[in-house]
Order: sequence, then C-alpha cells, then structure tokens
Amino acid sequence: MNRRMSTDTLRSRSAMAALLCLGLFVAVCTLAGRANAVERKLGGELKRVLILHSFGREFRPWSEYARSIKAELERQSPWPLDVQEHTLLSARFNNPGPEAPFVEYLSSLYQGAFPDIVLSIGAPAARFVQRYRAKLFPDTPMVLTVVEQRLVNRSDLTDNDVVVSVRNDFLAAFNNILQVLPATKTVAVVVGASPLEQFWMDEVKRELKPLDGRLELVWFSDLSFEEILKQAANLPPHTVLFWGLMSVDAAGIVHEGDIALRSLHAVANAPIFSYQEPFFGGSTVGGPMHSTAETTRKTVDAAIRILKGEKPSSIKYEPIGFAAPKYDWRELQRWGISESSLPAGSEILFREPTMWESYRWQMLLIAAIIVVQAGLISGLLHERRRRQLAEVESRQRLAELAHANRYSAVGELTTSIAHELNQPLGSILTNAETAELMLKGASPDIDEIRHILADIRRDDQRASEVIRRLRSVLRKTPFEIRTLELNDTVWEAIGLAAAVADGRRIALSYVPAATALPIKGDPVQVQQVILNLIINAMDAISDADMKKREVNVSTARAGNQAEIRIADTGPGIATGDLTNVFNPFFTTKPEGMGMGLAIAKTIVEAHHGTMAAETLPAGGALFTVRLPIVR
Ligand code: ADP
Repeated sequence: MNRRMSTDTLRSRSAMAALLCLGLFVAVCTLAGRANAVERKLGGELKRVLILHSFGREFRPWSEYARSIKAELERQSPWPLDVQEHTLLSARFNNPGPEAPFVEYLSSLYQGAFPDIVLSIGAPAARFVQRYRAKLFPDTPMVLTVVEQRLVNRSDLTDNDVVVSVRNDFLAAFNNILQVLPATKTVAVVVGASPLEQFWMDEVKRELKPLDGRLELVWFSDLSFEEILKQAANLPPHTVLFWGLMSVDAAGIVHEGDIALRSLHAVANAPIFSYQEPFFGGSTVGGPMHSTAETTRKTVDAAIRILKGEKPSSIKYEPIGFAAPKYDWRELQRWGISESSLPAGSEILFREPTMWESYRWQMLLIAAIIVVQAGLISGLLHERRRRQLAEVESRQRLAELAHANRYSAVGELTTSIAHELNQPLGSILTNAETAELMLKGASPDIDEIRHILADIRRDDQRASEVIRRLRSVLRKTPFEIRTLELNDTVWEAIGLAAAVADGRRIALSYVPAATALPIKGDPVQVQQVILNLIINAMDAISDADMKKREVNVSTARAGNQAEIRIADTGPGIATGDLTNVFNPFFTTKPEGMGMGLAIAKTIVEAHHGTMAAETLPAGGALFTVRLPIVR
C-alpha cells in the first residue's frame, strides 16, 4: 500500500518536473527571441532622427501627429534610433522675434554630426527647415509632414525632400454640419489671431462662398479667449461652434489647443465641430476629419524608405483628404442628433453601454433573486392561508366535539338539574296553594300573602337561572374569544354540579382566588373543561365508594397565569395511566367514552394553556389547569 502510494507520488512529481521544464524552455525561447530583436536593433547602424515641432511638443493637433509618427517609426525601424525633438517657438507669437539664435543653437548642436533625416511637423517647421537647410543640414533628407498643401513652399523644395501634405476641405466640413443639424443658421468660428490663423480665416471665407445666404458666419478672431468663452455660453438657438485653430488669441495669449477646447466645451451652449481627429473624443461632435493614422502611415513609410537609401525625389504622395466621417455618440445624444441623419458609412464611437450591457449579470442575478424571493413569499403566504383555514377548521371540529361532549356531561347532570328545578317548582306550588287557602278565609292577611308572592317570585327566578345556565352550556356557539373572570366561570360550573354532588353525598367545595383572574377565552368551553374535571372527580369517588367524599376546587394566581386546581379524595390515577388519561378513547369506566379529558386538554391548549394530572400523596387525583392572565 505504502509502496504504491510512493510510486504514484513519484509519477506525479516527474510529470510536474516535465511541465516545469517545458515552461522554462518556452520562457527561454521567448526571451531569446526578444534578445535577438534587441540585438538586431542594437547591432545595426544608429539612425539619428530630428523632429522639429512648429508650436510646442504638447500643442494639438500637431502633438498627436508627432506622437503617433514617433511611436510608429520606433516600432517599424530595423535600426536603433536616436530621436531628437526641438520646438520652433517663434511660430506661437503674432510677431515672431528673430530666429537667428535658435538657428545658431541647432547649428552648434548638429555640426559634424548631422541627423540622418529631418521630420518637420506643421507648416512653420517646414518653412524653417527649408529656409535654413543650407546652414544646418545641407545634405540631410527631409520629410515635411502634417502640412496643408496650400502652405507648402514648393519653390524651395529640393530632390532631398518628401512632402506629406493634407488638404483641408472646409466646404465638406460645413456641409456636414448642415447635414446633421439642418436647422443651423449661424456658425461661430473659433480662430486665433496669429498670422497663420488669419490666413486660414481668409481661406475658410473663400471656400464657404457657396454657402452664402444659407449660413451666417461669426468670427471670434478679434476676441480674447476669455471673451470667446463668455459668448459661447450664450449663443442664440440654431448656432454651432466651429473649432478652427486657437494658438494665439486676440489678446496675444497662447493657448494649448486641447485645454482651450475643453474649457470651451465645458461652457458652450451649442455643439462644437472640428476637422481634426486629435480634437475628437470628448469635445467635438465629429464628421469628416483628418486622421492621424493616414498621415503617420505615409510619413513613416517615407522615413524608412529614405533611411534604407531610397531617393527622396522618388517618393511622392497626393495630399491626404478627410477620412470617413466619425461621430461621438455622447455628443449626438447631448444635441439630439439622430443617427439616421449621419452620412452613409459613418462610424459612431464612444457609445456608452446601456445599463443592461454594463450590468447584465448583476441584473440577471437580482432578477433571479427577486423571482426566487417572490416565489418563496407567495409560497409562504399560500402556506399561511392554508394554516389559517386549517386552524379555523380544527376550531370548528373542536367546537362540534366539545358540544357533543357537553351533551354527555349534561346527561350526567340530569339528576342535579331535575333536583335544582324541582325544589323551586315544589315551593312555588306549596306557596301558591297556601296563598289560595288564605284568600278563601274571611279576612286574608294581605301582608302574609305579599310575602308568599315574593317567595314565589324568588323561586321562579331560581328555576329560570337553572334553565339559563343549562342553556348556556348546551348552546352551540362557534369558538368565541373574550375576556372573562375565571373566578366567575368556575362559580357557574360549581353551580351546575352542586346538586349532583349533593345527590351523591359528596362535599363539593370552592375556594376562589382573592385576586381577580382575567383571562381570554371562550366562556362556554372553559366552563366545559371545569365541569368535565368536576364530574370525573365525582365519578372517581362514587365508583370506588370512598369513605372520604370530597371534591375541592380552588383558583389561584401563579405568576402571570391563572390556576384552577380540582382535587378529589378518590383512588387517584395509576402511575402507568397518568400519561394516557389525556389520550382519546382512554377510559377505565364501563360506559365511558374516553373523550372528556382529550377534549378538555385540546380546549386548554387552544387557549394557550396547560393541563396536568397527578395523584396526591393522600391518594386522590389532582388536575391542574393553567391559563395565561391578560394584562
Ligand atoms: P371517560 O370519563 O369517558 O372515561 P375521560 O377522558 O374523562 O373519559 O377520562 C379518562 C379516564 O381518566 C377515566 O376513565 C379515568 O380512568 C381517568 N380519570 C379521569 N379523572 C380521574 C380522577 N379524578 N380520578 C381517577 N381517574 C380519573
């Protein structure tokens, strides 16, 4: 057994070792592959790339183009790259200062170690590298990228240059506005005040000639950006904003495009449109735009080919137009633009997932819990209803059974009742006869006759009382709960049984509690329990023909319970029978039915009480009933 276990363990250990080896092998291969790639780059000839920015490294939209181009170049380059970036800050200002110190700086930086390629980002950078090529990098090939075709200085182009230009189509951009928001009457154009921005303002005006009369154009070029924000917050209806360029505002303050656009978006009461993808995603609605991907693809393609030795003059590209229109779903929602009004082939981005899409599992789980809970609750309600019905039915049965049992008890009381009725009836007769005789006399004693009549009335009341009690016991009533005084209820029962006790020569005594014993219960049924116990006690004494013939009934308060004790001087209950006496059909009497105690116990328990039997040390039986006292 032990040996087999150790063989199994060995087997699983060697399997684990094999797995570990395989994992190690895969890891080593992967690392080796990576190392090869690094080695390939590190081992190759270092290529020096100079990127010249027009406005700043974080100036949108150019920053996004530059970032994308640099990342893609590094990804595709088979050589290790040394990328240097510089910024031509002079383009930021309305009145550019002298460029000479910057040229000197670059010249001293690159003398003797010219870059392998120069990438200029934007028109001002293109102009600069063209102007100072002879002094700075006379033989270095250049890629003039992210430049609008109208701003390309073609006369200064050489065989060492590649142009990756774009073509702005303002008419298409404005037609897009009219397509998605046909109610538009006015377009407020956000544009700065630098010479470049002024140039574009004129170009936009010229290109939009066909829309004269259809659209009113409002120019924000004379306003400080602060003023632009104020105006944008209170634009009249059917106005939209067009984000042209905002490099330098009329107050001469330079604005980093992205931050300025975001603050405009935060306050504007109209949608904002733009033709540049770098501004898309958070602030603008969308439409046809220049895509960074296409310009990046062409720029990197040109750079790699040049670095591989291809002649720049052989690399030619057409100006890049707008890409297929894209829209921001959140802005479409915000401005109530229906998807059906978008041009065919449009792409909708930033769609927010619906509650259902975001929380499908949670919602399903909650729904399942609710369904299960609803099922459980309705099951419980159904069960409760069934229980209530069953309770009502069992009470009904109990009431019927109790009623039947009362008949038999009353049967036993017949002698007592007859005796109780006979007595008053007999005295009524005697009194009536006496009165008659007196009336026949010459001078009847009226006072005496009055006394006799009073006696007759008293006896009549006694007889009626007997009948009332009898009727109350035999009344077939449904289970009816009310507050009763237990001492009185016991008195009534004693009253009914008293004559029987007399007839059987049994001393029936009752010692009620000194305090009131209010309980909640059905008076007829509680009385039946007491009556049953008294009759049983008397039966026990009579059957055994005892010498001492007593039934002692008493009530008392025990804590918050009312207690009735019925003790007799009979033979008591045999120890073995103590547990059986409350069982249905248990009887030791020749003509007994054995239902009395069973019914009595059921009645007591229905009243939230308890009932117990014991044999007293002196020999008789003691039955104790306890019922809760109401406050
Ligand atoms: P039944 O009176 O028809 O026999 P009960 O349920 O009232 O039915 O009583 C069941 C049995 O319990 C009686 O037959 C008797 O043996 C016993 N029992 C009841 N009360 C007493 C008592 N006070 N003393 C002795 N035995 C009793």
